[in-house]
Formats: sequence, structure tokens, C-alpha cells
Amino acid sequence: MIAMESSRAFLLPSAIAAGGSEESVLARRIHAEPPHAYRTPFARDSDRVLHARAFRRLAGKTQVFTRRPGDPPADHFRSRLTHTLEVTRIARTLASALGLNVELAEALALAHDIGHPPFGHAGEKALDRMLQGYGLGFDHNLHALRIVTWFEERYAAFRGLNLTLGVREGIVKHSRDYSAAEHPELVEYFLDLRPPLEAQLIDLADEIAYLTADLDDGLEAGILSLGPIRQCVPLFSGFHDTALQRFPAAAPKLVVNEALRRMLDALVTDLLGEVCRRVSAVGAGSLAEIRRAPGRLAALSAPMEGERAAAKAFLYAHLYNSPGIEEAHEHATEVVEGLFAAIAADPSLLPDDHRAQIPTEGLARTVADYIAGMTDSFIEQAWKRVRG
Ligand code: MG
Repeated sequence: MIAMESSRAFLLPSAIAAGGSEESVLARRIHAEPPHAYRTPFARDSDRVLHARAFRRLAGKTQVFTRRPGDPPADHFRSRLTHTLEVTRIARTLASALGLNVELAEALALAHDIGHPPFGHAGEKALDRMLQGYGLGFDHNLHALRIVTWFEERYAAFRGLNLTLGVREGIVKHSRDYSAAEHPELVEYFLDLRPPLEAQLIDLADEIAYLTADLDDGLEAGILSLGPIRQCVPLFSGFHDTALQRFPAAAPKLVVNEALRRMLDALVTDLLGEVCRRVSAVGAGSLAEIRRAPGRLAALSAPMEGERAAAKAFLYAHLYNSPGIEEAHEHATEVVEGLFAAIAADPSLLPDDHRAQIPTEGLARTVADYIAGMTDSFIEQAWKRVRG
């Protein structure tokens, strides 16, 4: 009885959930398809994303740590695939507790990183820099949309995965807004309105997943150490103290695990409470009202936002921009920029199916599309061949 009451503590009015029935606007596909006998439109989209080649390639893409030939094996570090699975579980938990559309949240979480090029953010920055030389840019959300609407070829009747409007909108808008003036091609995605809460939650589910996971992997890799984390990340040190008191004889690594799981739980619980507070503060009782709210309603409370910012600042200073990782960033930049320049100078290096895109997509975009699809190991090999 108590468990049931607590599980309802965060329930929002049911009209706020994004409608996922066959008749709903958000279930519309680019090419009309007959409904499935027992799978909902968003559940089908999760399956389509999961079966996409771009999704499987996430296994070979860096989250934070790049494996280089000769590095000691560390197969338990997160890849972009395992990170994506962690985000998906958090997104499902959030959507379920709030009474939102769990299947939409799941599809968006599964798709949220499929637009990422090899070598993590260093690879994305390098690709963006190269495209800027042609008056273009690289944006992983827009690239994800290109993947699901064009690159993936699984159906005889059309290109792309033919995902629902709701999933395509969330892929584009989950982490930022796009103006219709700058992006007229995105006009069908309700650019002047906020996305449904299912999409708004993805960015925070992503952040909760990587803040906790990167402390874990950073410690495991020996780049981070416990003292500075305890000093600079109060949310962690509070739970670390709790775990030390509760398990005074436990191995240090297990005490860290206990602290990290409490930290993850606290972030999720705080987010649930704050979403409920913000929804009720604006008096939103339907999806239409969520869309017209003055700002996004998925957020952490002010105190927890401070904790999040401290953890993130710590990870930037001690992990993402640490000397060990910077070397990997420099390597990523060299490989992405070098390969881009080499292929742009000699498009015969492109595989036939990519080269065929040049007349419609332009040379620079075609080269970027090719490179963005590569895994870390594939781009290393391609770079080795090009350099001779
Ligand atoms: Mg992510």
C-alpha cells in the first residue's frame, strides 16, 4: 500500500503524456503504413532505432575514453552504446514515474546519440570546424535526423526508418531549440513550441547517466582519485560518508559504488519532484499547455542544479580536459581533420554509395556524412590507409 502511494507521488495529469495512439498527430509517419496488430507506433520506433546500423555502431564509438591499439584492455568502460542503454533506463524510469509516454521516452533515449561522430566531442568539434570552412556546420541532433530520415536503408519502399513525427521532433529538439528562420527545413517540428516532456527529460537523463558513470570510469581508469572528488563534488562526498558509515569494512570500490548509486537516485528523485513543481506552477494540465509554457519544465531544483554544476565542473577540469584525455583529443582532431581534407581533395576515396550523394548533398556534407558514420577503429584504419 505504501509502495503504491509513493509510486504515485510524481504522477502528472494523464493529458500531459504525448499521445501515441495510431490516430494521434505525433504518430504520423512520412510514408503512411498500416498499424501493427499489437505494437504501438512509438514502440515500433524503438525497435527501428535498435535495429539500425547507426545504433549498432555506437558500440565502436567513444563516450569519454578512447581505446587505442596497444592500450591495456578495459572493456568495461562505457561506450556510446552502453551509455545509451543507461540513459534509456533512466528515461523509462522518469517517464513511468511521471505517468508520461514511456515508449516515446524510450525511443528518444535510444536515438539520442546516434548522430555522434567517432571520438566523442573532440570528433564532433573537428568535423564542425572542417565544415565551417565551407560555410556549413555539424550538429549531432540534425545529423541524427539525417540518419533516421535518409541514411538508414532497411525498407524496399523508401529510404530512412520512417519514424513517427513525435520521435523525429524529439530527436531534433531534446537538447536545444532551433529557430525557424535559421532552419526552415525543420518547420514541421513545431519550432515555436516546447517539445513534450518526454523529450525534455532526455537531456537530463543523459546528464545524470554520464555524470555518475564518468566518475566511475574516471576512477577506474586512474585519471580521477577519490580525494579531489570528495573535495569538489559535495553530492558525492555526502553519500560517500553515508556509505562509509553503513559499510565501514567494505572494499573502497564498493563504497564508491554505493555512493554513486545513491547519487544517481538522488538526481532522478529531485528531477521528478521539480518537474511536478514546475508543471503545477504554470498550471499545465495537457500536452498543449506544456508546449505553450514559457520555458522548458524539465529541470533540477535550484540546490540540486548547484550540485550538478559542481560535479560537471569537476569532470571538465579533472577528466574531460585532463592531460591524459587531451592527448586523445589532439589525436582525434588530427585524424578527423586530416581525413576530411584528404577525402575532400580526392573524392575517389569515398565509397560509391557515398560518392553518388555529392551532386545533391555537396562535397563537404558528403565527406562529413561519411566520417560521422565511422566507428573509432574504422576511422583509425581509414586514416592509416590515406596517410600511406
Ligand atoms: Mg548522451
